[in-house]
Amino acid sequence: MPKIYFIDVTNRDGVQTAHLGLSKLEKTMINIYLNEMGIFQSEFGFPTTKHESLYLQANLELADTGVLQPIRLGGWIRATVGDVETAFRLVPSIRHLNISISTSNQMIYGKFLGKKNKEDILQMMVDAVEAAQANGAESIGVNAEDASRTDTDFLVKFGLAAKEHGAHRLRYCDTLGYDNPFSIYETARALAENVGIPIELHCHGDLGMAVANSLAGAKGAIDGGQDAYVNTTVNGIGERAGNADLVASILAVTKSRGFSEEYQLGDPIDLSKAWKIAKFASYAFGVPIPINQPGVGANAFAHASGIHADGVLKDSNNYELYDFTDLGRGEPELVETGREICSGEYGGISGFRHIMGEMAIRLPEGKEAEELLELARYANVEAQRPLVEDELIFIYKYPQIARKLLTLVPP
Ligand SMILES: [Zn+2]
Repeated sequence: MPKIYFIDVTNRDGVQTAHLGLSKLEKTMINIYLNEMGIFQSEFGFPTTKHESLYLQANLELADTGVLQPIRLGGWIRATVGDVETAFRLVPSIRHLNISISTSNQMIYGKFLGKKNKEDILQMMVDAVEAAQANGAESIGVNAEDASRTDTDFLVKFGLAAKEHGAHRLRYCDTLGYDNPFSIYETARALAENVGIPIELHCHGDLGMAVANSLAGAKGAIDGGQDAYVNTTVNGIGERAGNADLVASILAVTKSRGFSEEYQLGDPIDLSKAWKIAKFASYAFGVPIPINQPGVGANAFAHASGIHADGVLKDSNNYELYDFTDLGRGEPELVETGREICSGEYGGISGFRHIMGEMAIRLPEGKEAEELLELARYANVEAQRPLVEDELIFIYKYPQIARKLLTLVPP
C-alpha cells in the first residue's frame, strides 16, 4: 500500500511571502525542528540565489555530520538548464531538487506572452531534468505550476515525459488554491494511474481548503497506486492566503474520521514537537498563531461554556478530538516578568555569560567566549529580535556552521 509523506516548504514558499522572512539561522532551526518531527523533506531554499549559498552549504554540512539526519534537504529552482547549472555551481553538494515550470494555458500564454508553447514547456522541463541528473541529483521532483488550471491530458503528458527522463515525483501545484477536495481527488488519482510516479500535493488556501485538498489529493494519489507527498508550511505561512498548515495536515491525516485506517504515514511523525515548531515559527516570522488554529491555537483546548467544561472535565473525549499532550503542550513555560537580560546586536560579554549560564552552559574563558558573543551579535543583526535558547545553544555547539550561516558577502 502506498504511503503519505510530508515535504515542508516553509523555507521556500514561507519565506518568499510578502512582508515576511526568516534569517538564515531561523531557517536552520526550522530544518532542525522538522527533522526532529520526522518530516521526510524540507524544501530548504533557493540554490540559485547568491545570498542563500552559504546557508544551504552549511545545512548540507549539518546533514553530512548527522545533525540534520534523516531529513532530506531539497532545493527549488526553475526548470531551465541555466538554473540547474547555477544551482550546482553555487551549492555543489546539493542532491535533491524540485524543478518548476508553468503548465496551464493561462500561465504559458499569460507569462511567456506567445514566446513559448506547450511543446517548448515539455522540452525545457526535460532538458532541466537531464541536466540535473548529469550534475549528480539523486532525487528530482518536477513541479507543474498552476496544475489545477491545466488540462489533465497535458499534465499526464508532462508527467510521463518527466518520468521517462528520470524524475522521481510529480508536484501537482494548486498554485492559486483553485481546487476543491472533489476535483483534486479526481486529478491526483488520474495522474497516479496514468503517469505511475509518486504525486506531490502543493495546495494553497485562497478558498480556505488547503488542508482538505491536501488530504483529498493524497487519497487520490494512493487510490491511484502511488505514494503521496503532501507539501506544508509551519502555521500555513505562504504566498497570499498561505499553504496547507503542517500541524493541521498531520492531524487531518492521523485523526480525521476513518482516514488513517486506510491511508498511512510513510515515516513515523513525532507530533509532540508541534507546539515547539509552531511557537518558534510564529516568533521568527513575527506572526501570532491565530487563537483558533488547529492543535496549537490558544483556544484549541479551552472551554468556557458550562456544558462543555462539565463534559470535558468528566471525560476529555466528550469535547476534545485529541489530547494537548499529543502536540507537546502542557509543559510549564517560563515567562520572565521581572528583570530580563536578552541577546542583542550590541550585547556584551557579561550579559551573554549570564544568558548562557541560565541555560547551564559554562562559557570558556577569554577569546573563545568573545568569538561566541560576536556570533550571537551577528545573529541578532539578522534577526532583529532576541535569540531563543535553541539558537544560542546552536551557536555554542556549532560555531563554525553558525559563522557560515551569518556570512553574507554581497557581490
Ligand atoms: Zn506555493
